[in-house]
Amino acid sequence: MTSMMGTPDATGRFGEFGGRFVPESLMPAVLELESAFREAWSDPGFREEYASTLANYAGRPTLLYLAERLSEHLGAEVWLKREDLAHTGSHKINNVIGQALLARRMGKTRLIAETGAGQHGVATATAAALLGLDAKVYMGEVDIARQSLNVFRMRLLGAEVETVTSGSRTLKDAVNEAMRSWVAALDDTHYCIGSVMGPHPYPWMVREFQRVIGDEAREQYLAATGTTPDWVVACVGGGSNAAGTFAGFVDTPARLVGVEPEGGAAIGRGIGGIVHGMQSFFLQDEFGQVNEASSISAGLDYPGVGPEHAHLSAIGRARYDQVGDDQVVEAVQLLARTEGIICALESAHAIAWLLAHKPELEGTSIVLTLSGRGDKDAETIAERLGFLDGGRGA
Ligand SMILES: *Cc1c(COP(=O)(O)O)cnc(C)c1O
Repeated sequence: MTSMMGTPDATGRFGEFGGRFVPESLMPAVLELESAFREAWSDPGFREEYASTLANYAGRPTLLYLAERLSEHLGAEVWLKREDLAHTGSHKINNVIGQALLARRMGKTRLIAETGAGQHGVATATAAALLGLDAKVYMGEVDIARQSLNVFRMRLLGAEVETVTSGSRTLKDAVNEAMRSWVAALDDTHYCIGSVMGPHPYPWMVREFQRVIGDEAREQYLAATGTTPDWVVACVGGGSNAAGTFAGFVDTPARLVGVEPEGGAAIGRGIGGIVHGMQSFFLQDEFGQVNEASSISAGLDYPGVGPEHAHLSAIGRARYDQVGDDQVVEAVQLLARTEGIICALESAHAIAWLLAHKPELEGTSIVLTLSGRGDKDAETIAERLGFLDGGRGA
């Protein structure tokens, strides 16, 4: 039995979830990756290189900010872990820098990645540029049309963007395509997965690269207050910012809350299954076909969830609730007007949860991970509010 959010055993299981369900042809690659990560993560030299890159390039530590006017509005004390202030505007940089450093250490010269909204693609292209690696990003044709600015950013950063035309031409198909292309290029290529998903060791490795969020927040909260918070809240797409945050607090009495979008609630509305190399919960139809997620925030549109969250939910250590698009847009506006912070629509799910649970939270203290900044979402929000329609909206 491994300790909670500790190191999984060789099978990569979190309770009944996780595992490593890959074709024979990929097995050597995931085994090589697992042993390389185990070895690197226990090497103080690698840890130091990772920490100093985050400090000197990505802008860590990020602030833990006491949001006083939001707190007043809620009747509870809210501390925001400001991942929106990290380089490239979200927590994704923590993971891609870790994986890019690991890839280089393994002698790989090339990164491939899948992306839906384009945020992970941009982060991967950024890390590749920083370390002088080649990058190729797989993206569904539908997403490419929806996210043209991010496609341009990736190209500006020197990455190649490959259009995926199979299936529904969105994120889940991009994952399949990236896995397929990895098999053909194992010698020089590392597959940089963007969240706590996929076959072992990815869910564990990505959580470890993101635990810097939770470790920092716990230390900062302790320094500021001398204790631990009552609640720890984060949004959940694949679940990497939440997993990294929870890892810092799982052994405290804090109640952990993951907030899923109503249209992509793999824990709240999904069914158990094996997809993308792991056992977890997925949105599926009656025939077991994976459905597309749909939410106002493209970054939460993954139809599954990381297996460790499925486990934390099953054992009752973390709670997973849902909020809807309208609540999210309201939350973005509230945070903007009370704190002068325009957050990502993904992150606003966590804020929306606070608003929806105000009575329960009264008088308590909360650490909430603000996973990213909202510049990328300004147009979506404006459209929603009618601002692009002659400016007569809210
Ligand atoms: C990608 C993204 C998410 C969702 O990913 P997780 O793996 O669930 O953290 C959340 N917030 C922002 C800002 C993102 O870019």
